[in-house]
Amino acid sequence: MKVGVPQGLLYTKYHRFAKTFLEELGAEVVVSPPTGKAILDEGVRCCVDDACLPMKVFHGHVAWLRGRCDMVLLPRIIGLREKEYICPMFCGLVEMVSHSIPGLPPLIDAPLRATDRQSLTRWALEAGSALTTDKRRIRTALSAALERQRDGTHAPETAARAVRVGVLGHAYNVSDSFVNMDLRRKLDELGVGVITQEAVSRADMEAEVSLLFKRPFWTLAQEYYGAAAVMRAKGMADGIIYLSSFSCGIDSVVTELIQHRLGDFPLLILKLDEHTGQAGFDTRLEAFSDMLKRRR
Ligand code: SF4
Repeated sequence: MKVGVPQGLLYTKYHRFAKTFLEELGAEVVVSPPTGKAILDEGVRCCVDDACLPMKVFHGHVAWLRGRCDMVLLPRIIGLREKEYICPMFCGLVEMVSHSIPGLPPLIDAPLRATDRQSLTRWALEAGSALTTDKRRIRTALSAALERQRDGTHAPETAARAVRVGVLGHAYNVSDSFVNMDLRRKLDELGVGVITQEAVSRADMEAEVSLLFKRPFWTLAQEYYGAAAVMRAKGMADGIIYLSSFSCGIDSVVTELIQHRLGDFPLLILKLDEHTGQAGFDTRLEAFSDMLKRRR
């Protein structure tokens, strides 16, 4: 049985988990290729106009899988922590995709609340039933997948440079070099080092978030705000670059919070959508890099 996995949205964070779980259940995993122009164009063509860029890109990945697999893994991720949410678009992702892309194979679309082992097991039993009726095997596959996910290595920092920026935003914007116009390579060529959210401890982020007047109920907003605040407070970076998705509600709130918290600390907000121009993007990056170097 071939199971397709779209290389979009939170794939970048959870691909080890998904791949291990499916393979342990005997599936052959087919992953869509890294984002490129063809995938973006297809996503823009089939997704609703007012969706954010990551959603359009995700649609392009799902469309690529059509005809190449027997099923597609499309978890409806509701939340990662108790009483917190990710984004309403994630909750409606299955409906969006299945209505926008005709001719898809069956979807493995069980709702996923990754808040504790019990909830994950519920998801695994429902999702895994598409591949086997052996519940013990599904539980074993879940354990292996969680183990593999824990083993994952992050690359939170590039080589040391005289100037270093924190690059923050949704993981799918930070890690997708097509979507972010090869930001890391460009910064490297400008002689600017990069540090990401993974370099900041959960406890430090939590300490910053707890100082807010009202705690955001979006898990991702807490993380980005917390990471920016810690990077400034601990001198981990000379400035912050925030990759923001045009029309993303979470980004519009979190960038306001970050701006307020950082004060006069250098912050560059780069808005991404399918119309973002290379030239304007590069010019802003170069100007920001020059400014950081002058401040040293
Ligand atoms: S969090 Fe923002 S960028 Fe991500 S899917 Fe939701 S609306 Fe789009």
